[in-house]
Amino acid sequence: MTHEKVLVTGGAGFVGSHLCEALLREGRSVTVIDDLSTGRWANIDHLKRDPHFRVIMASATERALVTEEVARHDLVYHLASAVGVKLIIEQPVRTVETIFHGTDVVLNACARYHRPVLITSTSEVYGKSERIPFREDADVVMGPTSKRRWAYACAKALDEFLALAHHYQSHLPVYIVRLFNTVGPRQTGQYGMVVPSFVRQALSDRPLTVYGDGTQRRCFCSVHDVVDGLLRLPANEAAAGQVVNLGTQEEISILGLAERVIDLCGSRSTIDFVPYEEAYGAGFDDMMRRVPDTRRAAELIGWDPAWRLDDIIQEIAGLADRPAPLLADVVRG
Ligand code: UDP
Repeated sequence: MTHEKVLVTGGAGFVGSHLCEALLREGRSVTVIDDLSTGRWANIDHLKRDPHFRVIMASATERALVTEEVARHDLVYHLASAVGVKLIIEQPVRTVETIFHGTDVVLNACARYHRPVLITSTSEVYGKSERIPFREDADVVMGPTSKRRWAYACAKALDEFLALAHHYQSHLPVYIVRLFNTVGPRQTGQYGMVVPSFVRQALSDRPLTVYGDGTQRRCFCSVHDVVDGLLRLPANEAAAGQVVNLGTQEEISILGLAERVIDLCGSRSTIDFVPYEEAYGAGFDDMMRRVPDTRRAAELIGWDPAWRLDDIIQEIAGLADRPAPLLADVVRG
């Protein structure tokens, strides 16, 4: 099934801009709706000369506009969202409202015109679950509502419920992706993401800020692998109505990550341990481990992430001296 005309909300964001590039490379025409709240014009500036690329600077919560645009397209990717733990902690009202309202508007428009839609959710939805690796059908363990971090997870979980409800009630083809820590070029450390922050600190020989004791662990997945999954899921109707994890299983502690970044960047940086309260304010809850079970993505679309952490860090730092795996290798390899 080919979806020629594709609408991408949040297309000026980090993941969105890589997705737009890949869609254009495949010969599709792409319209972006983005209000540049966390996205940046610079992320898509290089695409603007492409006659098949169009940008509408607006919020995905604008119902009339979104409905009109959905009607004109064959496939919708809804990526517009508040992102980053720092932003979520600092602006909780905006987080909850924009996430849920935007998804409601997009899903309603897709239901009206019966357009397939992929929405990006998050591994935060698993909350504090300790049942590693996280399976899509496992119970989630949410923290208390007094801890603002969980507002993001709950808003995204509600998005998932709403998408699945549309699938149930009107057979709307919805594809729900839970993204794990996704990293790559163009990601900004502005909203707290650890890899771009560490790389920037290392390249300027400033201390790397490890929050807590650095024993918390994460799996970092290249945005190129993630985009490959995002491209392929809606091409398989069997994936409709399912929640699918996209992430790697290569796990590293945050202290280990700091050491790896310093080493790969040939940096003279030291490591500063910063208490969570100092980084995020009082009452912050972190999760110690977060590893995806990716069997569903493997079964549905043969997804198998190709990028290793060292290559990912080198690409972000602009140090890659050999081409990292091409998307084509990842897809068909
Ligand atoms: N972190 C850190 N230093 C930073 C930014 C983040 O030690 O400058 C930690 C953060 O507390 C978390 C991990 O790195 O344990 C990953 O943080 P990020 O915000 O990238 O993603 P999260 O997994 O929390 O969504």
